[in-house]
Amino acid sequence: MSETRPKNNFIRDIINEDLKAGKNQGRVQTRFPPEPNGYLHIGHAKSICLNFGLAADYRGECNLRFDDTNPETEESDYVRSIKEDVAWLGFDWQDREFYASDYFEKLYEFAVDLIKKGKAYVCDLSAEQVTEHRGTLTKPGKESPFRNRSVEENLDLFRRMRAGEFPDGSMSLRAKIDMAEPNLLLRDPVLYRIRRAHHYRRGDAWCIYATYDWAHGQSDSIEGITHSICTLEFEVHRPLYDWFLVQLGIHRPQQIEFARLSLSHTVLSKRKLLELVKEKYVSGWDDPRMPTLSGLRRRGYTPASIRRFCDEIGVAKANSIVDMALLENFIREELNKTVPRAMAVLRPLKVVLVNYPEGKVEELDCVNNPEDPAAGTRKVPFSRELYIERDDFMESPPKKFFRLSPGREVRLRYAFFITCVDVKKDPATGEVVELHCTYDPATRGGDAPDGRSPKATMHWVSAGHAVPGEVRLYETLFTKRDPNEIEEGADWKSNLNPRSLEIITGAKLEPALKTALPGSRFQFERLGYFCVDVRDSSPGKPVFNRTVTLRDTWARITKAGKENE
Ligand code: ATP
Ligand code: MG
Repeated sequence: MSETRPKNNFIRDIINEDLKAGKNQGRVQTRFPPEPNGYLHIGHAKSICLNFGLAADYRGECNLRFDDTNPETEESDYVRSIKEDVAWLGFDWQDREFYASDYFEKLYEFAVDLIKKGKAYVCDLSAEQVTEHRGTLTKPGKESPFRNRSVEENLDLFRRMRAGEFPDGSMSLRAKIDMAEPNLLLRDPVLYRIRRAHHYRRGDAWCIYATYDWAHGQSDSIEGITHSICTLEFEVHRPLYDWFLVQLGIHRPQQIEFARLSLSHTVLSKRKLLELVKEKYVSGWDDPRMPTLSGLRRRGYTPASIRRFCDEIGVAKANSIVDMALLENFIREELNKTVPRAMAVLRPLKVVLVNYPEGKVEELDCVNNPEDPAAGTRKVPFSRELYIERDDFMESPPKKFFRLSPGREVRLRYAFFITCVDVKKDPATGEVVELHCTYDPATRGGDAPDGRSPKATMHWVSAGHAVPGEVRLYETLFTKRDPNEIEEGADWKSNLNPRSLEIITGAKLEPALKTALPGSRFQFERLGYFCVDVRDSSPGKPVFNRTVTLRDTWARITKAGKENE
């Protein structure tokens, strides 16, 4: 599903070599293996695009497999959301929806096989003792006193572990590898624990659960995965996975590691995202500030913009942080070409056109999308009383301010030139509450016959026709480029951006926006791209989320972040 020709990368090089060597009978089988313990985020999108993209390019298949081996954290709502997000991104796993929890029986048999081969044993050490025995990078581990149990005894104990004869945590099944291995993961790792926990799919059928390390590689093998693509932190696990597969004598997928995506000014750890949700720093997994796919979708991102972003960043062997601005560029570029323009005033200031006839209404032609002539024009009502943006007026403007001020003429987009002739203030506070202006009827449509051209063009909404609306503006969730960079003793959440959400309830929208459908997108002239919120909008009362500003406001936010440091 890449929009462009696939870029060469080291993963493709490996696959090309394998195909040339006739490995796997020329098959390419990948998988996307989420653990259903949270919603998918933009980092997962990178993995999804990669796995499904490679399968498509090589006429192979990509499975969706839920790596659901941990009963404590997994839920069926996460499964639902993951399927929704993968499908939304534009990928189809057809009938290949698999669950590691469906392999529990098979994994158990594999463990029995390993015991029979003298390569696994039941150990009575507690979890803490196992850790103590493991040793360190510089110190070899200590062998468990239970390491040399007979095969028969191990088979018997393991069967009874499964049958529920022993209390939680009292025993584990461990691989018998080498306690002096430099790679600590190979120092007799735990394969099974006793844990009486309810599994969201298997209920209470099991009281022993496989570790991720035991389940993952074998699950890939069961599915005949040819290229098991994962993130760099699993590089050190590869010798262990290979050891299991070699001992069992079953199909061995080629594991290939790539650098995980980190995005600036946000976190991509499910644990941290869950904490933000649980502690109500955000409204939910799909809060438009979240880097989750459901959050990005609600914010107004399209699947294509995310796929293009993933194509662009490519795959590498070294971890780095990608700027959020890059992601924003992709959605901005797409929406600029595709979405209709509209006018909305976020912080309204009333303008009365003193020479415009009372009661008169004109329907003016406004261009729907200057980038797309086929989008045509629409009629927008214009009348004596209008709203303009409050900060488009300054009573005593500094040198570089070209918008409205006393005595100055500006252009109202697709309408007329107006000149400010009087400023009305609240006598108590001195606040400007209304402007009186004249308009030049000869400039209808926004052009003067004498060719004069004001320096500023502003958006507007007819006051009598305006629809009130709620608009939500966003900044990044965190002030720091790398939110994980925290001061000693501080909480990672201390880097949260207190201004990440601004709710504007008194916006004035052009009338047609009243019936804008949830999920539809617009460019509000001069303000950015907006998407109608699917959750909080109701018929006739759209709530707009700003997807992205018109220009990259990055520099400013980064600067603000610096100032906070
Ligand atoms: P977390 O570390 O937040 O718990 P995870 O990697 O454990 O996330 P999984 O559900 O196991 O989450 O991820 C499914 C797949 O997505 C894995 O193959 C993993 O390598 C990949 N993945 C997860 N996060 C990223 C990321 N930031 N960039 C690229 N791939 C990722
Ligand atoms: Mg994982």
